[in-house]
Amino acid sequence: MLYHAPYRYLDLTNTSKLGPVQPGEATVVGIVYEVNKRIARRPGRKQLTITEVTLVDGTGTLIGVWFNQPWVEKSYRKGQTLAFSGDIKYRSGLKQIIQPFVEKIVDDPDTEAASEAGAAECVQSSTDSGHMGKILPVHSTTEGLSVGWLRRLIAAAVDDYAQVSEYLPAAITKARALAPYSWALHKLHFPAHLEEAHLARRRLAYGELLDLQLLMARRRHRMTRETAGHTHIALGPKHQALGENLPFSLTKDQEQAVAEILDDMAAPYPMQRLLLGDVGTGKTVVAAYALAVAADSEGQAAMMAPTEVLAQQYAKKLGPLFDDINLKWGLLTGSTPKDERALLLEQLKLGEVQVLFGTHALLESDVQFKQMTLAIVDEQHRFGVQQRKTLHSKGEAADVLVMSATPIPRTLTLTAFGDLAASYLRARPIAGAGITTKKITFSKIAQAYDAVHAAVKTGHQAYIVCALVDESSKVEAQSAVQTMEELAVGEFSNCKVEVLTGRMRPAEKARIMERFRAGEIDILVSTTVIEVGVDVHNATLMMVLDADRYGLAQLHQLRGRVGRGQHSGEVWLVSDSFSEAANERFAALLETDDGFRLAELDLEQRGAGELLGNRQSGVANLKVADLAKDEDLIEAARKDAFELIANDPQLQADELSLLKMRIEALEGKFDTWKIAG
Ligand code: ADP
Ligand code: MG
Repeated sequence: MLYHAPYRYLDLTNTSKLGPVQPGEATVVGIVYEVNKRIARRPGRKQLTITEVTLVDGTGTLIGVWFNQPWVEKSYRKGQTLAFSGDIKYRSGLKQIIQPFVEKIVDDPDTEAASEAGAAECVQSSTDSGHMGKILPVHSTTEGLSVGWLRRLIAAAVDDYAQVSEYLPAAITKARALAPYSWALHKLHFPAHLEEAHLARRRLAYGELLDLQLLMARRRHRMTRETAGHTHIALGPKHQALGENLPFSLTKDQEQAVAEILDDMAAPYPMQRLLLGDVGTGKTVVAAYALAVAADSEGQAAMMAPTEVLAQQYAKKLGPLFDDINLKWGLLTGSTPKDERALLLEQLKLGEVQVLFGTHALLESDVQFKQMTLAIVDEQHRFGVQQRKTLHSKGEAADVLVMSATPIPRTLTLTAFGDLAASYLRARPIAGAGITTKKITFSKIAQAYDAVHAAVKTGHQAYIVCALVDESSKVEAQSAVQTMEELAVGEFSNCKVEVLTGRMRPAEKARIMERFRAGEIDILVSTTVIEVGVDVHNATLMMVLDADRYGLAQLHQLRGRVGRGQHSGEVWLVSDSFSEAANERFAALLETDDGFRLAELDLEQRGAGELLGNRQSGVANLKVADLAKDEDLIEAARKDAFELIANDPQLQADELSLLKMRIEALEGKFDTWKIAG
């Protein structure tokens, strides 16, 4: 209860009279004069229920208005004293607040029939209820638990339990100007003014973030300092030959990422690194360096992708390069023929295959390496904890590199992935001609069709992305198969149209991708299988049907498929959705192409839990800290935690004894995810 932070405060230290109050944000107090519900019929549209609660206070009136919330009528009665908080506007000469935040000040007035004339007195006497002149915390509640009752419970909890010892070392509270722990637990709920609430929140948020960062720092210390790993040779012959054979030179970001990775690999501890880069930033070649270094050091490496298409793309891109530098590689997927698979596994066991690309097929128990010293997982979020562990367990204290094309907001990288070192690829090696994004409704879809025709006419190719694979699902969305059939015989009967769905056999998918890449298909109608890693520069147009069904990150990744080459790309988002969230996503996509910026918006829209999947354990526990807003605090806590652990890994200093107890208890509580198993 102490950590059940109020989600807002109602400031009754500073309320306005209804008469003089001006439009804008304000808190007012008055007596309910009437509650009124009516139904507005609007031709051609759904009917609207309007509930109005009129407040009076002897100086004026103000109306609270609710749309389509008919139950509001039952919540308030004539004669109650209510505080309304919200944005005051004039409408037809009357002051009103749409959907105000409401607090009951006096629920059961003695004078049931408060007249307009007597209203002023009633408001006066209501100051005796104990709320007026205070800042009221508003805690989130659940059905059957009223705000007022919860507030009283929390007040009792604060009285009885908020007297706790400070556990932070004085050096930190001083350096970071943090309020005392006990004070903060009290003032979070019952501040005398809003500044106190702010200071309390800041102290408790820092405390939570420090806990989390200490968990991360300790875990990282254990994984990378207390465990012996492979000492790779960073600058061996294959590494050098790779550099000489590359048809281009690395970008600065790539240079730096390679240097960071090689440093980790050459150290006698296991690498635990995250490589982050938006689509097209050139992660594959960075991975190639790590793979070459493993081979140079008599080790073997595995590189795992979530889809067959992607795994094949590695083989296709890196295979020839590796052949040139005499590095033995293999590709293992679900569609590898049996005989080929048997031979490959044999060679793998003997150490004759140095690099193995593949999909989930790598995880099978008969896939055994002679000595795997490096595991690379691409699109790491597509795999479960257990799968990543399984791959890693095929070696002994192998170095780990996880890659992601999903731009992750910095605050999340620092918390959810706080035990990993991160390398970033920000700039694209090939700038690309850029993309324009448009949003239309289905009624305007002919425009998009015209654009597809125009693209095909000039020798380019197009993607049409549909949400679902077939009609069997209840969800009313475009189905790829049906859409393909319709488009192939109708609108695009003069083009070569093919369909690609997640349900197809991998070999079939690969064949279609190959033909698309070779330019034998004009229009690829597809589900999101094209989302990850597909790279066909001649494809310049993408239409996304029912675009509201995709998340922001997903849409951004999808559109990254076009406009990457020398031809500019065009993206048409087609949706009839009225959802506010969906339209916010579209607006963001139209506004910016910066993956990291979009990731931040995604974080604000959906919250950390949604973005994290199975990596959220410690982060999900944050009650006061907010990953979308507390970047400064996160940085501060991270710096402090890593310094503490570097200087005193076991937290043995006297002034850290309370902190140590706290962290050890948390470590017992969360089995937070460990890459190293
Ligand atoms: P990602 O996996 O990060 O989406 P890729 O590794 O597929 O990106 O690289 C995108 C494209 O850029 C590929 O065609 C790749 O060959 C090319 N590329 C990568 N690095 C460079 C570079 N330094 N200079 C020129 N082209 C590059
Ligand atoms: Mg890639």
